[in-house]
Amino acid sequence: MRLIDIGVNLMNSAFDGDREEQILKAKKANVSPLIITGSSLEQSRAALEFARLHGLYATAGVHPHNARYWDEQSAAFIRNIALPGGSVAGAIALGECGLDYDRNYSPHVEQRRCFEEQVKLAAELKLPLFLHVRSSLRGGGAWEDFLAILKKYRKDLTRIVVHCFTGSSGELEACLELDAYIGITGWVCDERRGSHLWPLLSRIPANRLLLETDAPYLLPPSLSSGGRRGRNESANLVYIAEFVAGKLGKIAETLAEETFKNTVEFFNLNLEI
Ligand SMILES: [Zn+2]
Repeated sequence: MRLIDIGVNLMNSAFDGDREEQILKAKKANVSPLIITGSSLEQSRAALEFARLHGLYATAGVHPHNARYWDEQSAAFIRNIALPGGSVAGAIALGECGLDYDRNYSPHVEQRRCFEEQVKLAAELKLPLFLHVRSSLRGGGAWEDFLAILKKYRKDLTRIVVHCFTGSSGELEACLELDAYIGITGWVCDERRGSHLWPLLSRIPANRLLLETDAPYLLPPSLSSGGRRGRNESANLVYIAEFVAGKLGKIAETLAEETFKNTVEFFNLNLEI
């Protein structure tokens, strides 16, 4: 089995003590390479530098929680680091970016501006988009605005993925209508919060499914110990793949091969498939 974690927040301080070990641990579990998610300007630059040093990949973008820091120079900053060269690897996607009206770390109007500018940048740079949106099932009501902005630019964009999809069946249909890829995390392994996703898994076309941990977040409950939710890691992607394969009635190896191929195609990675 071989898997690629399309979303690990490896620059998060939760990995300060063992960032390099995480790569080896994942590799031993056949999860390689890793794709580091960029979530702020500085973190994206750090992710691209780290990726270049360790043969990994990274995205570059500003998460909706950080939208209030977006200013006139931000687009130029991303354009600069997204292109390969200098001390950093080039970004393989723009993001994560999108809208999250639940916790409101940034005002909605600033979130929309920050999101729309990054969508335009993805179109300009011809990079895939790594998207974050909080489903209406989880509160906040960002979904309508999210769709409106995406629809406006969809024809100018290459490939898009709605990462950590936790939405309803209607939201899934809307994503598929936009020919989006769907990123599934360990949320799906959570019987209490994620079981509504189980019947939806078979509606995702096999060539549109991607797998991710979103580590250090979203540790599958059955992997937590002592009732406390610990840190998630890329090596746990194997467990998520086996769980999803089980729900789809597929052999895990088959699902792994399919999602590996989807990942290479989506991010246009220089890997054999
Ligand atoms: Zn996210």
